[in-house]
Amino acid sequence: MVMHFKIQVVIEEESGQSTLEDVVELSKGLDHKNTVGLSLLESKQLLQSLQRTIVLHQAASYSEAHQDCPCCQKKRRIKGHHTIQFRSLFGIVAIPSLRLYHCSCANASTKSFSPLNEWLPEHTSPELMYIETKWASLMSYGSTADLLHDVLPVNQSLNPATVRNHLHNIAKRQEAELEGKPDHLSGCPRDWEKLPKPGKPIVVGIDGGYVRNWEQKNTNFEIIAGKSFSKTQPSKRFGLVQKMDDNPQRRLMNVLKEQGMQANQQITFLSDGADNVRNLQYRMYPESEHVLDWFHLTMKLTVLNQFAKGMAHTDPDEGAQVTKAVDAGRKLTRKA
Ligand SMILES: [Zn+2]
Repeated sequence: MVMHFKIQVVIEEESGQSTLEDVVELSKGLDHKNTVGLSLLESKQLLQSLQRTIVLHQAASYSEAHQDCPCCQKKRRIKGHHTIQFRSLFGIVAIPSLRLYHCSCANASTKSFSPLNEWLPEHTSPELMYIETKWASLMSYGSTADLLHDVLPVNQSLNPATVRNHLHNIAKRQEAELEGKPDHLSGCPRDWEKLPKPGKPIVVGIDGGYVRNWEQKNTNFEIIAGKSFSKTQPSKRFGLVQKMDDNPQRRLMNVLKEQGMQANQQITFLSDGADNVRNLQYRMYPESEHVLDWFHLTMKLTVLNQFAKGMAHTDPDEGAQVTKAVDAGRKLTRKA
């Protein structure tokens, strides 16, 4: 036995007029387990077809509303037709677009224009850029492209290079947004007291590590990465290369600002106490509290313990003393 399903969309215009359009037709048997519900492929076809229907209707409606001159209401003459390729998470939609002559009453600097280019200046949807960038910051460009193709009807030509280019564009835009933002606490400490009572302290975990330079394999560069936690906002991650960054302080300051940090708020930094990360936070926020975190303390104690074991062979008394000191340190970290 086979069942047929027809998925349709009802489009209701503002005028009250409504139209019915077919989206997808499916045939489903009842005798096989694999045909229960939608398959992944069918879900992709459904999303793509639905996206196409919605975008095309939106575009047609916009074009129609903008064909007349807004001053004299005369119909503007058509110069030509072209197609806009709109890329989204739900596939690529080819949108027919008009090029219109400006009306003689308009004082325009160009002869013609395309209404849809004004409506859709970016031909890649922000959500597609967002997911690409978010996933690519957690895994490789290749895995990001593969995963997107696995679960969504993204355009066939989307590849690791596309993902990398989009990520770079977003990064450049974020850099531009940082320009001109403050790298220190604004106002003077006397005024800070008048600020509303701040929330619980913000906690920032920060650490540095060396990464080999891909282009010059014999050189390393240091990256600093961290995560900030606040009681009221979702946690935020940040990363920077101190040597390359024009203003690492500003980057960190803006992460904290986005978390709602006030000038009179207490901040606790957790780190291994290395000078590089210590200086960054100290310059920016001298009042901050600095705590050696449990992980780094334990690592240091483990190294010391190995050292004590080695020492016990040559000088049992000294070795025993170091072991005792390490045990005391362990007790202290456990209490903390
Ligand atoms: Zn006109």
